[in-house]
Amino acid sequence: MATGMIEIDLELCKDCKLCISVCPHRLIESSDRMNQKGYYPAVFIEKHLKREGRKCMGCGLCAIICPEIAIEVYRA
Ligand code: SF4
Ligand code: SF4
Repeated sequence: MATGMIEIDLELCKDCKLCISVCPHRLIESSDRMNQKGYYPAVFIEKHLKREGRKCMGCGLCAIICPEIAIEVYRA
């Protein structure tokens, strides 16, 4: 089964939440910490969900929908 991971550039994110809505495994949430532009950026929360078996598949949907090109996807 394909696996992946993502990195989100917290300073590019404008908290539009599109990536949060599109991730099929709900692996992205809004941070409770503001970035330098005053937005609460999206964060990848997979490490908190390991026990639930929710794992990034590297599908790339989050990166494709991000209008700020803030998400990099890595596939393994
Ligand atoms: S690559 Fe796919 S599974 Fe991984 S975080 Fe993005 S939308 Fe979710
Ligand atoms: S889609 Fe991009 S800009 Fe919007 S919340 Fe996600 S990372 Fe931030």
